[in-house]
Order: sequence, then structure tokens, then C-alpha cells
Amino acid sequence: MFGLIGHLTSLDHAKAVARRLGFDEYADQGLEFWCSAPPQIVDEITVKSLTGSEIKGLYVESCFLPEMLAGNRFKTAIRKILNAMAHAQKHGIDITALGGFSSIIFENFNLAQLLQVRNIQLDIQRFTTGNTHTAYIIVRQIEEASRKFGIDLAKAVITVCGASGDIGSAVCRWLTANTDFRELLLVARNQEKLHNLRSQLGRGKVTDLAHALPLSDIIVWVASMAKGMAINVNQLKRPCILIDGGYPKNMENTISADGIYVINGGIVEHSLDIDWKIMDIVNMAAPARHLFACFAESMLLEFEGWHTNFSWGRNQITVDKMQQIGTVSIKHGFRPLIG
Ligand code: NDP
Repeated sequence: MFGLIGHLTSLDHAKAVARRLGFDEYADQGLEFWCSAPPQIVDEITVKSLTGSEIKGLYVESCFLPEMLAGNRFKTAIRKILNAMAHAQKHGIDITALGGFSSIIFENFNLAQLLQVRNIQLDIQRFTTGNTHTAYIIVRQIEEASRKFGIDLAKAVITVCGASGDIGSAVCRWLTANTDFRELLLVARNQEKLHNLRSQLGRGKVTDLAHALPLSDIIVWVASMAKGMAINVNQLKRPCILIDGGYPKNMENTISADGIYVINGGIVEHSLDIDWKIMDIVNMAAPARHLFACFAESMLLEFEGWHTNFSWGRNQITVDKMQQIGTVSIKHGFRPLIG
């Protein structure tokens, strides 16, 4: 059985979802309530593959909200993730994806040191960040969207915002190994990490967002921002492809302008309907077919019987592993979503 650990994007989102599900008493509660709420299994899932095989899974809502980080409630955030992992393991789930901020909290707070959760010793082989598949899907989105919207990759300036992160660095590694492009602009806050990445890649320019935006033909957003930033469309080149893989989204505002193409980054479309409710809750356009690539990774590992932490740690994703997960992604019927 596979599992998915997820969370909602904000307190407002959590309130809206609670109301929509008929839990009016929760919908009126503030952050304190969500800080004390235990993890819950809120969905039972059946997924069919193009190969004909069928798997079952569970969705664990961690009740973590990004406001907990913004409000320095780090201990609460840690408790949410460890409790959700223990809950998944207690329910016998073989392989569980740590969606959105779950894996970021695990790594940033070094939770590998805290694997004893009450009477459960967490077995990290049962968990995957899902980031290898997410990075693979984003590079496929770059390739397919540039073809669709008439941008010649060989002449393109590509910016990766969040380049030194787990997904961002994997995207950069793939691009430098497999893609012909003009320039790669590396953006994040910590300059030392960006320079290290640049040395490993042997290509790319470390810069800031203000400098990168007007130069870029393609911008990949994979920064771990608890809240998105407002983007002024007039700063952007035309045409320009924006691939926002953040969860919550890195771009706060909805951008609609001629020549600007916004892609839902790191999202896959399945070829067959999935029997579940949760993608409706995160406002996917086609909730039976569209899902986060990290969640799809745990499905792929279950389909293949690879019960191992395929994606783990930070900045270890190789091009070979992206290719490996990409091959089984296609085999089971997933494809990158191009809006
Ligand atoms: P990491 O924590 O590994 O990396 C985050 C990167 O963002 C780092 O380079 C960090 O560098 C940078 N960053 C953080 N804040 C800012 C900022 N304000 N401005 C510029 N750069 C910033 O995260 P992941 O790679 O694991 O995840 C990245 C995003 O992808 C997250 O939003 C996550 O929720 C989302 N995600 C989406 C998935 C999907 O299926 N679509 C799956 C998994 C994750 P620095 O701190 O130096 O700024």
C-alpha cells in the first residue's frame, strides 16, 4: 500500500476546506486549533496503471500549515510531520510521499535524529520525498512548453528560482547534462550555496531575481516560500514561460497577459481516473486526473514494488535516477501537465 502525507497551503485554505467538508466547527477555528490537531487519514485511494495493475493507498493530512513556520512555531511543525509519518507507518503503509513542506521540514530540522515517535521507530526506507519525479516532470514541462509556445531552447535564458534546493538543483543538473540552452540563471538567498552549485554544474550565473526576471525566456519557480510573492508582469520578457512548482505557489498573483504562459509546475496528468477526493480540495482543474508529481512518485514505487526511499536527503538527485523514475512514469500512464 502507498501513502501520501499532505497539508493545506494556508489557514484560510484550511478553513475553506473544513467548511466545504461540512466541519463548520473547525472552519471557525484559528491557528491554535490546527496546531493541536492530530494527523488524520482522510482519503482511501485506488489507482490503476496503463499496464492494468491496480494499487491502494491512503492520504494522511498532517494538519501542518505554512503559517506555523512564519510564526516561528518550529516545534509544532516538527511534531506535525513526525506524527504524520508515525501515523502512516502505524497503518502499515509501505511507501509514503512527504508532500510539499513535509520533506523540507524533515531536512531543515534534521529530523533523522528524532526517529523515535512515542512507541514507533520510524523506518525511513518507507518514505520518499518524491522530489526525483517532481524534478523530472519539471524538466519535461520546460521541454514541452517551450515547443508548444515557440521558444527555441537553444537560444533561451532559463532562470531557476530556488536553484540550490533539492528540486531546483536537480533541474539544473538535468539541463546542463541534457539540454542545449543559452544561459542558466541561478537564484536563491544563500549565495555560497549557489556558487557551490555553479561549480558542480560547470555552467550558470549566480544572480538575483530583479536582474533575472527581465532577461528570462523561461522561469522555473521551486523556492520553498511559505507565502508567494507578487510578480509585476511588466518586468517579464514576451514571450515568457513561468513554471511554478512551489507548494504553496511561489507566485502570489494570477498572471494573465499576452505572451506570458503560466504552467502548473510539478503537476502530472494521469491517463485514467483516480478514485479519490483530495485533489478536489487543492483545487486541481481535473481532480480525478491531475496530481502532484511527488505523490505520483509513491504510486510509481508501489506499482514497481520498489519499497525504498527512492528520493531522500538533499541535493542527491541524479540525472540517471530522474531518467529511471521518468521511464516508469510513462509506463504507468503519467505525463507532465502543460496548461
Ligand atoms: P528545498 O528546501 O530543498 O529548496 C528550496 C530552495 O528555495 C532553496 O534553494 C532556497 O535557498 C530557496 N528559497 C527559499 N526561500 C526563498 C526566497 N524567499 N527567495 C528565493 N529563494 C528562496 O525545497 P524543495 O526543493 O524540496 O521544494 C521546493 C518547492 O517545491 C517547495 O515549495 C515545495 O513545497 C514544492 N514541492 C512541490 C512538489 C510537487 O509535487 N509539485 C513536490 C515537492 C515539493 P535559500 O534558502 O538560500 O534562499
